[in-house]
Amino acid sequence: MKDKCRACKNETSQHGFLFKCIDRNCGAVFWHRKILLENLEDNNVFEKQLSLAEIPLVNNDDYFVYVIQLSRKKNEVQDSIYVGMTLLHPHHRYLNHISSRKGSRHVTKRGKVMIQYEGPMSRKEAIKREPELAEELSENYIVYGGH
Ligand SMILES: [Zn+2]
Repeated sequence: MKDKCRACKNETSQHGFLFKCIDRNCGAVFWHRKILLENLEDNNVFEKQLSLAEIPLVNNDDYFVYVIQLSRKKNEVQDSIYVGMTLLHPHHRYLNHISSRKGSRHVTKRGKVMIQYEGPMSRKEAIKREPELAEELSENYIVYGGH
């Protein structure tokens, strides 16, 4: 499996099908798409993959805001990102996206690497932060989501 960081090309550490950049300044993670060969519609299989990826448990009322970079479409000259908020751990939410469980179609098809997330935070903070972050990042990226 290709295992270089999809954001910075650095080395990664592997946890199940989840790869984490070892450079803390980068902090990007990605799910290898080989995970889609697993039967993720089966909840037991899905849960097992979360556990192999060592995704920490989160509190019931913790929210996160996250950013997933998308693969470029043909002829695109600027990178795209998807900004979202979630009650799940962001790595878990990311897997939902690419396995098309309540996923944005942009991320299901083109989700490439989670470049950052913020949180835990309150719902109120997340509702404020999501569009704010989308706005900040729109200087450098085409932004989907973020509202
Ligand atoms: Zn990296």
